[in-house]
Amino acid sequence: MLMEKKHIWELTDAQEQAAIMDYAAGYRAFLDYGKTEARCVKKAVQLAEAQGFRAFQEGQSLKAGDRIYWNNRGKSLMLAVIGSEDITQGMHIVAAHIDSPRLDLKPVPLFEDDQLAFLKTHYYGGIKKYQWTCIPLSLYGTVVTKNGTVEVEIGTTEDDLALVVTDLLPHLADEQMQKKMHLAIEGEKLNVLIGNIPAGEGDKKVTEAVMKLFHEKYGIEEEDFVSSDLEVVPQFMSNDVGLDRSMIGGYGQDDRVCAYTSLTALFEVKQPKKTAVCLLADREEVGSMGNTGMRSHFFEDKAAELIAACKGDYNDLYLRRCFGNSACLSADVAAAYDPQYNHVYERRNTPFVNRGIALVKYTGARGKSGSSEASAEFTGYVRNLFNANGVVWQIGELGKVDGGGGGTVAQYLANLNIDVIDCGVALLSMHAPYEVAGKGDIYMGFKGYKAFLGE
Ligand code: MN
Ligand code: MN
Repeated sequence: MLMEKKHIWELTDAQEQAAIMDYAAGYRAFLDYGKTEARCVKKAVQLAEAQGFRAFQEGQSLKAGDRIYWNNRGKSLMLAVIGSEDITQGMHIVAAHIDSPRLDLKPVPLFEDDQLAFLKTHYYGGIKKYQWTCIPLSLYGTVVTKNGTVEVEIGTTEDDLALVVTDLLPHLADEQMQKKMHLAIEGEKLNVLIGNIPAGEGDKKVTEAVMKLFHEKYGIEEEDFVSSDLEVVPQFMSNDVGLDRSMIGGYGQDDRVCAYTSLTALFEVKQPKKTAVCLLADREEVGSMGNTGMRSHFFEDKAAELIAACKGDYNDLYLRRCFGNSACLSADVAAAYDPQYNHVYERRNTPFVNRGIALVKYTGARGKSGSSEASAEFTGYVRNLFNANGVVWQIGELGKVDGGGGGTVAQYLANLNIDVIDCGVALLSMHAPYEVAGKGDIYMGFKGYKAFLGE
């Protein structure tokens, strides 16, 4: 009669524990490559094509079992396996996001001060700024020059050079240490150190020398930064964490942990009844705004294409019926209970590391504001599905009532008249440059999404 919370290792046999450990290796490779949303799309497309997925061609017709994808501007992705049932009966969707908190370069980033050259940044997403100083950083992204587009990759491995945001030495930090944490490092001080050797004439000798290096390697001139998407991210690669290797530490696990598990779950789906869809969205960390975010019409447009391609004709009612009959797991990370900061959590309603994939019925802040909520019926359906498929799950919410809050893409799908519940891996140190996830939870995410997409 009573609900018991158990560790995944207390609920699984040796064979499944080996599968949990094996699965983690593929995930770590994805995480290490996918340091930006664009690189996640690139890798996801590569993996999907190896699994028989093809880019959708306008006007193409689709039948049960077909595997297709839409690449949205190289920054978000929608993949589908066509179901045997009429598509107006609804789709099963797993929606994750592939953007993570980071430092973006400003349009005019380069300057020098007393022979140290820096790149100015504007941080993206919710960060604790002090966490981004004094760690090795890499620069990735796209620059459009007058001669075409170039891909920039600087300081991408540990044996390469690194960029860094400096911080004050403790000896001289008396004043800084008295400040409130969020004011101790100002946004305008998140400047990335990029060079020191002077060359050339005038008062911008280091800037000029740095620009020369950019030009030699990439053909970039200073004005080209105006038309660029350049992202500064942690350089370090992922690790197993703990003597028992039970966890994974790494950058960008919010939400690439759910992206990878959703994607590989879809790969396992061969002949579903419902059309199975995996969405890898961009811009979640800044409110899902923009044409690659979940609030754009991209998903609706491609769902319409999907319907037309499956049915051979199209009208608006088909799309509305399809959405009305669809269900979605919003695959985003949850906040794992951290006993060191236990005062912000309400223990009974908080997910724990390696106790299963975490269901979150509602998010929001201050009285559930700004969030959708999964119904009793849909929550019951998902719970029973997971139980029937040996998926270890738990349920929780984001901290104590009035302790703060947050949201996911769930509400944007719910507003399309789709049943949605949040369902993802619980993280320690969420949004830090180095986040921690439990291997058991990661595997149960994969297993849960697979059960749902295979329906
Ligand atoms: Mn997230
Ligand atoms: Mn986040």
